[in-house]
Amino acid sequence: MAEVPRRDVWHPAGPGQPVEVFTSLDRYDAPLMMADRGRRRFHVMIKPVGCRCNLNCAYCFYLHKADLPGGPGAGRMSDAVLERFIQQYIEGVTADEVVFSWQGGEPTLLGVEFFRRVVELEKKHARPGQTIQNDLQTNGTLITEEWCAFLKANRFLVGLSIDGPKKLHDRYRVAKDGAPTFDQVFRAARLLAKHGIPFNTLTCVHRENARFPLDVYRFLRRELGSTYLQFIPIVEYKGFERTAPQKWNWERMPRDGEPEARPGHPDSVVTDWSVDPDDWGYFLCRVFDEWRSRDLGKVLVNHFETLVAQHLGLPSQLCVYGEFCGKGVAVEQDGSVYACDHYVYPEYRIGHVNEKPLADTVLSRAQVQFGYAKNEALPNQCRQCEFLKDCWGECPKNRILRTADDEPGLNYLCRGFKRYFAHAVPEAERIADGLRRQPRESRRRM
Ligand code: SF4
Ligand code: SF4
Repeated sequence: MAEVPRRDVWHPAGPGQPVEVFTSLDRYDAPLMMADRGRRRFHVMIKPVGCRCNLNCAYCFYLHKADLPGGPGAGRMSDAVLERFIQQYIEGVTADEVVFSWQGGEPTLLGVEFFRRVVELEKKHARPGQTIQNDLQTNGTLITEEWCAFLKANRFLVGLSIDGPKKLHDRYRVAKDGAPTFDQVFRAARLLAKHGIPFNTLTCVHRENARFPLDVYRFLRRELGSTYLQFIPIVEYKGFERTAPQKWNWERMPRDGEPEARPGHPDSVVTDWSVDPDDWGYFLCRVFDEWRSRDLGKVLVNHFETLVAQHLGLPSQLCVYGEFCGKGVAVEQDGSVYACDHYVYPEYRIGHVNEKPLADTVLSRAQVQFGYAKNEALPNQCRQCEFLKDCWGECPKNRILRTADDEPGLNYLCRGFKRYFAHAVPEAERIADGLRRQPRESRRRM
C-alpha cells in the first residue's frame, strides 16, 4: 500500500498544553487531511424524485429502491434538503466548475417549477468565479414546449435515453402498462432540436440491441442527429434488487466461459436482459469501425473518446475505465449520500446532508477506501492483462465471475472488452499520434 508521509497530529490536553500524538495516516485519510491544500473536485448525481418514474423499463436498476430494506425509500426532495444540498455542493467543490447532474427515476416528474427553484438556489449560493452547470437525464416522454423554453434559457445539457430504432427501443423501454415509448422519445428529440437545446443520447446496450450495432449507431447518428453518444452495457446480477455489489454469494459465481456466465441460462448469474459479453465486444468493435471511418472528428462516443484520451496520456473520462472510483457520489431525495449511484444500498450509505458537509462525506475514509478498492480488488488476471491500463477491470459492480484459476472478481464483460481493446487500441494509438502532432486547439474534438 502506498502511504502518504506520516504527519504528527496535535491533540490539546488542556489549556496551552498540547500533547503530541503520533498517528499513522494512510492513504485513505490523506484526502480529508489535505482537503484545503488543493482544489477539490467531485461530482454528484442527484435523485430529487428518488426512483419514481412514469416508465417501467425491464432492465431498470433503480425502480426497486423504493422497497429496498434500509434504502432511501420513495418520495421527493424537500425544499430544505434541496437548499442544504445545493449550498454544500457549491461550498464543497473548490474547482472552477460545479456540475449538477439531475437523474432519477424520472426527474421531469417534478415539473418545471422544481427546477426553477433549483436555479434560484444555485444563484443564491453561487461563488464568484465559479461556473455552475446543470445536466438533466430524462426518458423524454414528458418534455414539452415549456420544458424546452426552461432548459434553453438556463443552459441545461440534456441526456436523452433511447435504445435505438423503434423495434429495439421498445423491447424493454415501456410504460407502466407495457405500451411502447419510442414515438414519445423521438418527438422529444425533435422538440429539443427545434429549440436548439444540446442533447446527448444515452443508450443501454442489452441482450437484444447488442446484436444490431450498426442499426443502433446509424439511427442515433443519422436519424436522431446525436453528436455525443453514450453506450452503457446492461449487466445485472440476478438478485440485484436486494443484494448490494460485493455482497454477492461468491459460491454462486461462475467461471468465465461457463454457461452460467451468460444470460439466458436457467442458473445464469445475470438477468435475462443483460448483454452477452461476446455481443458487447462485437457491438463496440462494429460501432468503433463505423465511427472511425465516417464520424471521427464529428461525433463523440464515450468509450472511444476515453480510449483515445488514455492513449494521449490523459485521465479516463469515464469512471469505469479509471483506476479508482470514489469521486462521483449519489444524493437521494431524502438527503442521504451513497458511494455511487450503482451502490444505492444501505451497506454503501456514507452520509447525509444533515449529518455533515457533503465534501467531508466525499473525502471520508469510507469513501476513499471504496474508491481504492477498484484497484485493490483486481484479480491477477487483470493485473497481468495487456489492456489493464485501458480497462482497470471496468466497473466493480460487474465483477461477478471467477477467473479460470478460480479467483473471484473478474468482470462479467471481460471477454467482450478483450475483443474490443484488441481491435481498437492500435487505431486509438494512431489517432492519438495524429492528435499529438496537431496544434493544441484542434485536438479538442476527436
Ligand atoms: S462503481 Fe462503477 S459506476 Fe461507480 S464510480 Fe466505480 S466504476 Fe464508476
Ligand atoms: S480486459 Fe478483462 S482481464 Fe483485462 S483488465 Fe479488463 S476485465 Fe481485466
